[in-house]
Amino acid sequence: MFYHVKELQFNARVSKPDPRFAKLLLEQFGGGNGELKAAMQYFVQAFGAKDPYPDKYDMLMDIATEEFSHLEIVGATIQMLLTGVNGELKDAAGTDEIMQLLDGKTKKESFIHEAMTNPHFLVTSGGGPLVTDSNGIPWSGTYVNAMGDLSVDLRSNIAAESRAKVVYEYLMKLTDDPYVKQTLGFLMTREVAHFQMFQAALKTIEPNFPPAVLQSDPRYSNTYYNMSSGNDFRGPWNEGVSPGLGETWQYIEDPLSQVIDTNGLLDLEPTGTKRTLESMQEADKKLSDIRSTEVKEVSPPKENQWSTYLTEE
Ligand code: MN
Ligand code: MN
Repeated sequence: MFYHVKELQFNARVSKPDPRFAKLLLEQFGGGNGELKAAMQYFVQAFGAKDPYPDKYDMLMDIATEEFSHLEIVGATIQMLLTGVNGELKDAAGTDEIMQLLDGKTKKESFIHEAMTNPHFLVTSGGGPLVTDSNGIPWSGTYVNAMGDLSVDLRSNIAAESRAKVVYEYLMKLTDDPYVKQTLGFLMTREVAHFQMFQAALKTIEPNFPPAVLQSDPRYSNTYYNMSSGNDFRGPWNEGVSPGLGETWQYIEDPLSQVIDTNGLLDLEPTGTKRTLESMQEADKKLSDIRSTEVKEVSPPKENQWSTYLTEE
C-alpha cells in the first residue's frame, strides 16, 4: 500500500522560470535512465525477490519508493520552471503573468519561444511535466530490466544507477540556477548511494558469479580471441587470472586455426582452469538444487497470502 505525504523528500526550489531547462529535465522524468524507470524497475523486481529473499524485497521496495519520491521532485521542479507558460495558457482573459515575471516584452517573447521548442508543454500538457524524455519520446516499459534472478537484477540496477548519476551530472552543467543545481546535486548523490546499496546486496548472495545458475563451460570460459590484426593490446581482460572464475586467460593469437584444428571448438580441452566438464555438471546440479529448494521451501502449495498484519499493542 502506498501512503502519500504532500511534502517533497527534498526542498526543491527554482530562482526563476526556465522552459529551456524544463525540457532538458524531462529526461529524468520520462526518459530511459530517469526516475520513473528506476522506480518501476525496482518495484517490478521486488515481486520476484520476496520469496526467498524478504530482505532484498524490503530494500527494493524502499528504494523504488524513494525513486517515486525523486520523480515527484523532478515533476515539481519542471512545473515550477514552467510557471509562466502554465499561467499564460490558462489566462484566456489577458492579465499577463509572464510579463510580470520577466518584466519586459522581449523577454516574454523569447520565453514563449523557448517553451515552443517543445510544443508539448504548451499544447499537450498545459504547461506541466509529460511522461516522455527530453525529445518527446514516450516512456516505455522496455526501459525496465527485471529478469527474476537477483544476481542479474542487482547488476542491472548498479548499471542503471550509474547512468542516472551521469545524466544528472550532465544536466547540472546546463543550468545556472543555484536552487536547481542544489536539487540535482541531491538527486545525483542519492543515485551514488543506491549504487552502493545494490553492490552490497549483491555481495550477500553467494555464489553470485556466474549470474544465475549454470556455471559455464570450462573449455570456453577463459579464452580471449584476438579477432583483429594490427595494434593489439594486452591487459587484465586477456592476460593473468580472470576476475570472476579465477582462471588463467588463454590468449588465442590465431582463432581461425584453433577453430579448424578443434573441429569447430568441439574437441578443445579446458586449459588454464581447474574446472572440468564433469565438475561443471556437478556444480550446475548442486546450485540448481539449492536455488529451487530455496523457492520451494517458502511457497505454500495452495492457499497463499502476501502479507502478515502486525497489530500494534
Ligand atoms: Mn533517483
Ligand atoms: Mn537511484
